[in-house]
Amino acid sequence: MGKLKAIVFDLDGTLYTSRELAAEIHRVACSAIALQLGACFEEAEARLAVAKRALVARSGREATLSAACQELGCDIRALHSYLAENVEPEPFLKRDERVLDMLARLARDYSLLVYTNNNRQLAGRIMAAIGVDSHMERLFTIEYCWRSKPDRGVLENIFAEIGVAPRECLFVGDRYDVDLRLPEEMGCRSYLTKSIDELLRLEGFADCGFGDNRGGE
Ligand SMILES: [Mg+2]
Repeated sequence: MGKLKAIVFDLDGTLYTSRELAAEIHRVACSAIALQLGACFEEAEARLAVAKRALVARSGREATLSAACQELGCDIRALHSYLAENVEPEPFLKRDERVLDMLARLARDYSLLVYTNNNRQLAGRIMAAIGVDSHMERLFTIEYCWRSKPDRGVLENIFAEIGVAPRECLFVGDRYDVDLRLPEEMGCRSYLTKSIDELLRLEGFADCGFGDNRGGE
C-alpha cells in the first residue's frame, strides 16, 4: 500500500446519522416519483419498493434511490430538483464536536472529500448544518456526472481531478455495496461505518495504517 493522501467520505449515514432525515428524504422522494408517474403517494412508494427489490434480485447488491428511480423510468434530475426544493434538513441535524475535532486532525495530514449520491443544494445544507463543510476540500454530488454510486467512470474522473491514485485513497461509507465495494476493486482502502461511534474509530484505524475493517463481509 502506498502512502495515504485522500479520504473520501460518503455523507448521509456516514458523517451523520438521522433516521428521521432519512425518512423525510424517502417521503419527499416518494412524492416526487408520484408526480412523475401520475400516481398517488402510496402507489409510488409501493412501486419504488418493488423496483429496489428487483434491482437487488438482479445484482445481488444493495439498490440506491437513484437506481430505483431510473428503474421506474423516472428522471433523476427532476427527482433531485424536487428533493432540493422540498427537504428541510436542518431540524433533523446537529453538530457533533467529536466528529469535527477528528476531521480537523485528519485534515492536517490528508485531503478530505465528500462523494455523495445526494444533490449539491441538499448536501451543502446538510454539511453546513453538521459543520463539516469547512473541513472538506471538494464535494462531488450527483450533479458531477448525473450517474449515481457505484460507478467506475465517475470514480476514474474523481481520481484524475484530485490527482490521487486509487491506492492513495481511503473510502469511508455506511453502505458497502454502494460506497466501498467498487473503490476496493479499483485498489482503494475502505472503512465501513454504521454509527458515529464507528466513524470516530477511524482515527485509530489511521494509526494502524488504514487496513481493511470489513472483517468477514
Ligand atoms: Mg450513505
